Amino acid sequence: MKLDFTREEETFRDEVRNFLAENLSGDLRAYARRMTSVYSSKEIALEWQRILVRQGWAAPSWPAEYGGTGWSVAKRYIFDVEMARAGAPGLSPMGIGMCGPALIGHGSKAQKDYYLPRILSAEDYWCQGYSEPHAGSDLAALTMSAVDDGDAYVCNGSKIWTTHAHEANMMFCLVRTDTSGKPQQGITFILIDMTAPGVRVDPILMLSGEHIQNAVFFTDLRVPKANVIGKVNEGWTVAKYLLEFERGGSAYGPRLLARLRSLRRTASEEGLLDADLARKLSRAEADAQTLEAAELQMMSELAGGGTPGLKASMMKILGTQLSQHLTELALELAGAYAAPFQPHHTSPGGPVPGFEGLNTPLVGPESAVTASAKYLNDRAGSIYAGSNEIQRGILSKGQLGL
Ligand SMILES: Cc1cc2nc3c(=O)[nH]c(=O)nc-3n(C[C@H](O)[C@H](O)[C@H](O)COP(=O)(O)OP(=O)(O)OC[C@H]3O[C@@H](n4cnc5c(N)ncnc54)[C@H](O)[C@@H]3O)c2cc1C
Repeated sequence: MKLDFTREEETFRDEVRNFLAENLSGDLRAYARRMTSVYSSKEIALEWQRILVRQGWAAPSWPAEYGGTGWSVAKRYIFDVEMARAGAPGLSPMGIGMCGPALIGHGSKAQKDYYLPRILSAEDYWCQGYSEPHAGSDLAALTMSAVDDGDAYVCNGSKIWTTHAHEANMMFCLVRTDTSGKPQQGITFILIDMTAPGVRVDPILMLSGEHIQNAVFFTDLRVPKANVIGKVNEGWTVAKYLLEFERGGSAYGPRLLARLRSLRRTASEEGLLDADLARKLSRAEADAQTLEAAELQMMSELAGGGTPGLKASMMKILGTQLSQHLTELALELAGAYAAPFQPHHTSPGGPVPGFEGLNTPLVGPESAVTASAKYLNDRAGSIYAGSNEIQRGILSKGQLGL
C-alpha cells in the first residue's frame, strides 16, 4: 500500500491552492464559516458551482467526456482536502454528486446528453426521492406507485425528508412498478419534473428552524417513459450503486481537523483553553487523524482498483460520530451564548421562517452564533445516507460474519 503522494500530485495540490486563493472570495469563506448545516443555500451553492464549472472542476468524479475532470482517486482526495482546508462552501450533493453518477452509470446516451450539461449549468436543480413515511432504512418497502399508461407512468404516493424539494425543478425517484416479486424487485428509477401538475411540496422545518427538507405528495402525476433510468423494475441496482457512492470516498478527516483547528483557536482567543478542554480537543484530534489515515488507506485501495465496500460503512460511522462530538465541544465553548436564537446572523441551509430580513444586533461572540443550530442539525448525520445502526449491521454481517 502506498500512502505518499507523487510529485505530480503535489504539483496538482499547489494548483488547487492557487485556484482557491484566487477564486474563493472572502465573502464565500465568511459564508461557509457561518454555515449551520451541511447544506449551503441554493444561491451560494450555485455561485460556487459556476466558478468551479468555469475552471472545469465542478464534477471531480465524472469522466472528462461528460464534463468532469477525469481525475485519479488521489487527485480527487487532494481536491477535497484543499477545499476543506480553505473553508469552501459545499455544492448541493443531489445533482453533481448523485444524479450525475446514476446517469453516467445507467442512463442512455440521449439521457446523458440532455441531463448532464444541465446539471453542470444548474438549469436543473435536483432532489432525491427515495425515503417514504414507511420506507427509510428498509428502503425496499417503498410503495409510491407508477402504473403503466401508454407512453407514461401514472404516479401516486409520497416521499419524505426530501432535501431541496421546494427549490428543485427535478427529482430522481424510486417508484414501484411491480408488486409481485421480492420487495427489491419491481422498483424503477425515474426522473420527475417537479413543476408538473400532480406534485405538492410541504415544508418540514428542522429543529434549527431551517426549511431544507420536505414532504412531497404525488397525485396522478404523469411521468414520460423516456424518464426511466436503467431498466424498468431494476431500479434497485441503480439505487444501490448510488447509495455506495453517497457513503464512500468522503474526506471526513480533513474537514474535522479544520473544524478542530478553528475550535482550538476560538478557545485560545477567548481564554477558555483550560486543561480539561485541551485534553478533549487533543483526543478528538487524535481520532480525526486516525480517520484521515484510514481514509488515505481506503483511497490507496481505490486507486488500485478496489471498491469502498465495508470501509464506506466504517467511515460513515466514525466520521459522523466525531462530527457530532465536535458540535458538542463547540456548544461547551459557546456556553450561555449558544442560547440566543439568531439564525439571521448565520448562513442557514434554507430560509428560517420569520427571521428573513431581521436586523437585530448580534448577541455574544461571532464564534458562538452557529453552535446550537449546528449541534441540532448534526444529529441528522447519523441518520441520513443509511443510519449508523444500519452501517453497524452491515459491518457485523460483512466483517464479523455475525
Ligand atoms: C436531514 C435529513 C435529510 C434527508 N434527506 C433525504 C433526501 O434528500 N432524500 C431521501 O430520500 N431521504 C432523505 N432523508 C431520509 C433518510 O434517508 C432516512 O431518514 C433514513 O434512511 C432513516 O430512515 P427513517 O427516517 O425512516 O428511520 P427508520 O428507518 O424508521 O429508523 C428509525 C430508527 O431505527 C433504526 N433501525 C431501523 N432499522 C434497523 C435495523 N435493521 N437494525 C438496527 N436499527 C435499525 C434506525 O437506525 C433509526 O435509529 C433525510 C433524512 C434527514 C434526517
